[in-house]
Amino acid sequence: MTKKIEVLIASPEVRPLAQTGGLADVAGSLPQALTRQGAGAAVILPAYQTILEHKSFKFTDMNTDFTVSQSGEDIPGSLLRGELAPGVPAYLIRCDRFFNRPGLYGYEGVEHPDNPERFSFFCKAVLEVLPFLDAYPDILVGNDWQTGLLMPLLKVEGLERPKGVFIIHNQGYLGLVPPELQGLLDLPPSYHNIDGVEYFGQSSLLKAGITYSQAMVTVSPSYAQEVQTPEGGHGLDGAMRHHASKLVGILNGVDYGIWNPATDKHIAANYTPEDLAGKAQCKAALMKELGLTGMENKPVVGMVGRLAGQKGFSLVVEAAEDLFRLGIGLVILGSGETFYEDMAKNMAAGFPGQCRIHIGYDDGLAHRIIAGSDFVLIPSMYEPCGLVQMYGLKYGTVPVVRAVGGLNDTIRDNSGQNPPGVWDTGFKFSQFQARAMMLAMKRAVDLYARPKDFQAMVQAGMNEDFSWDSSARKYINLFERILTRA
Ligand code: ADP
Repeated sequence: MTKKIEVLIASPEVRPLAQTGGLADVAGSLPQALTRQGAGAAVILPAYQTILEHKSFKFTDMNTDFTVSQSGEDIPGSLLRGELAPGVPAYLIRCDRFFNRPGLYGYEGVEHPDNPERFSFFCKAVLEVLPFLDAYPDILVGNDWQTGLLMPLLKVEGLERPKGVFIIHNQGYLGLVPPELQGLLDLPPSYHNIDGVEYFGQSSLLKAGITYSQAMVTVSPSYAQEVQTPEGGHGLDGAMRHHASKLVGILNGVDYGIWNPATDKHIAANYTPEDLAGKAQCKAALMKELGLTGMENKPVVGMVGRLAGQKGFSLVVEAAEDLFRLGIGLVILGSGETFYEDMAKNMAAGFPGQCRIHIGYDDGLAHRIIAGSDFVLIPSMYEPCGLVQMYGLKYGTVPVVRAVGGLNDTIRDNSGQNPPGVWDTGFKFSQFQARAMMLAMKRAVDLYARPKDFQAMVQAGMNEDFSWDSSARKYINLFERILTRA
């Protein structure tokens, strides 16, 4: 029998320990899916205040204190160990100066100014503690800019193992480090050039991950193409084209243990594709909770996500008059940039009989909105994978999405021109324009008015399968290729 592959996933967020977006879902689910496929897997993340203070998370200090040298200072840290799931260790890098404070990357709409120091420290600490983990990793997986520095550091240290794999969940966050702080990265001068980590005079930690990883993954096949174009590359499209031979797109999966209307504990009633009665109860309960009346026979549209420019919320605001004229209800759950939060609040205030907004992060409400709405609207400017549309499918909540990235890869909209036995699962529009979004919304509302046809689409979506297992197998194949190549 061949030795099983040991994988360590370093991530700035891991559900349920710390989350701001879909990255946490992936970092929480992928290790468990890898374990089911026969690999060994563990996660490592910073010991944020919310984790340390959480009553039900149990972590023990491993008594392996270490120091990390950064900008001429020796900064002490320690390692804690707990479990993400049985057989899946979760490690925390503790350094109170950097992580024992409110907010993962910022607080009350303001970024932590020392993010480069914080995540540079985290990456260096991960390499320090490798010998103390239950299993020494063959593969070290980095996720997004916060862990990009791991990839060149592996090279600088000259370690034979682990091999570095870098997952890009969002190329829009570059992890920029101004020139005066470059020293804290501890990279040789030869790394600070256009073929290394340099990004228009600064350093990009995302680019560090791109340049120095053994393999790169984007979280959907379409996104792997889009990041190589000027429109989708955020200034790194040249680097992505240069490194395209080590790039693959692997679609994220959904953890149906958490997101399944047949078993979900957050929602008013459970339901299945065969028996949708519970879905109507979920809608009624959601309307009651949010104080929206008269929506029984009207389409309710849900939006759940980070309020950031990427998510295309500006299209909704621009189209608001026309949108509400369709007679829909709109419920929004989100948090993020103050600018978009205010924009959403102002819009909701203008349509009090049809719109509700909840600003904040609320996992239970996210489930209740996805179960209790008829549609989920995701008009993203770009969307590396997107999970909410896949949750929508499973919950019989028809996605209306812009045809980009993973949204394009997961939703079928062929205007009924499918081969026999294949049904459309949602509505897509191409141009990032309010008018294009409105045309898709109009088609959606028209279908809603034909209950039999609408139900066929609902059921088609619920029967789609985006579980992790096939994606986890693709990751393991990739890891095996890298290890045998080496
Ligand atoms: P992104 O990774 O760009 O944030 P995704 O669609 O991939 O977008 O993932 C978003 C995830 O975060 C989903 O699990 C969604 O339910 C969750 N989420 C986002 N915002 C909120 C919020 N305000 N409250 C609860 N859950 C949220």
